[in-house]
Amino acid sequence: MFSKWQAITLWKRVLIGLFIGLGIGLAMRYSLGVERAASLADTVIKPFGDAFVRLIKMLIIPLIATTLVAGVTAMGDPKKLGTLGARTIGMYLVTTFFAVSLGLLMGTIIQPGVGVNYESASAEAVDSVKGKIETADAAGGLVERLLDIIPTNPVEALASGAVLPTIFFAILIGVGILLAGPPADPVKKFFESAAEVVMRVTILVMELAPYGVLALMAWVMATQGIEVVLNMGKLAIALYLSCGIQIVLVYGFLIVVCLLKLPLKQYLRGIADAQGVAFSTASSSATLPVTISCAENNLGVDKSVAGSVLPLGATINMDGTAIYLGLVALFAAQAGGIELTAMHYIMVALTATLVSIGAAGIPSAGLLLAATVLEVIGVGPEQALLVIAFIFPFDRLLDMMRTLTNISGDVAVACAVAKWDGNLDEEAFRREAEV
Ligand code: ASP
Repeated sequence: MFSKWQAITLWKRVLIGLFIGLGIGLAMRYSLGVERAASLADTVIKPFGDAFVRLIKMLIIPLIATTLVAGVTAMGDPKKLGTLGARTIGMYLVTTFFAVSLGLLMGTIIQPGVGVNYESASAEAVDSVKGKIETADAAGGLVERLLDIIPTNPVEALASGAVLPTIFFAILIGVGILLAGPPADPVKKFFESAAEVVMRVTILVMELAPYGVLALMAWVMATQGIEVVLNMGKLAIALYLSCGIQIVLVYGFLIVVCLLKLPLKQYLRGIADAQGVAFSTASSSATLPVTISCAENNLGVDKSVAGSVLPLGATINMDGTAIYLGLVALFAAQAGGIELTAMHYIMVALTATLVSIGAAGIPSAGLLLAATVLEVIGVGPEQALLVIAFIFPFDRLLDMMRTLTNISGDVAVACAVAKWDGNLDEEAFRREAEV
């Protein structure tokens, strides 16, 4: 029985886990009652989900540090890094532009805010959200954040799990190895073999994904239910639809099919494990090792590209979040009866892009930073707090979908950049169809 289960392809097992978890969670919530279900889920089920999340998070820094150094040395020429970086950032901006436009278009058609009274947000919700927003804002302004990318103490950066400083340091070490030439061969070999080892551990941890995803889904459903559909109906529909279109049309059709001349089905199958983990954890950061593993092992993206493009994507490329921020702005405008001009739309698009770049890949980060986007349409801080507090209790189910979209975009861009660099094993990409 167990070996039969193990013989099923991982992404299918992850999906099965996801649906079983969903069923268990909902069954608990609607048979035991809201409170009992929530306390049981918190004490008995959540620890299993948390254990899985800790296991993947444990791999983030070792994976970036080793894969990225090995990736840079495999490129052979530091100059290639410039082209790779420019293409990556260019593609990230292009996909985010599509995302934001799509969010604004869908928000205009579906009108999620019409008839909503967000002033009814409870005082409790407002208080709890206030503290969270302050923490989310604590990252400081753009200049400080850019400076923070340069670690004053790389060991500390590694130890504290800071992704961007680790990327920065790893790239420089890789470049150093290349510049040093033959004397650096032992260090080069060390990183190559260390990257192999950490990837093996990642694959091992991924075997637990179906159970981790099951536990996380059961917990979310038991504690949150699907009330989001009742309370945030139109916002949820607009977000899920926009994200679906972004994945299938922009990533799948425009990038994979038209630009790369590769089959859509394989792209979707290749990223399904990562999508399952992203959906259940609502954190693109925590999903990163799985995203890297999917790109490398399922889609044939070379580690020089996967190791650099994906960690950067998990921190700065958030198309689902950008869609959402556009939608939240329209939601607030419609609910508050604010007439929007063309200039407002442009400003929302710009700020939503910037905020999505600045948001961390952790649960609810996008919503907690929404005040900046609301400000440009004339929603003051007090009102913005009410809007955020009104949505926050139902945000998890929305967050799950935008996180899934965020990582799907990272992988599509990684495939594109890899192909242009001659670093995509197209045979491996196509092979995914057979599993
Ligand atoms: N949870 C999202 C992520 O990790 C960010 C967001 O809140 O939109 O990608």
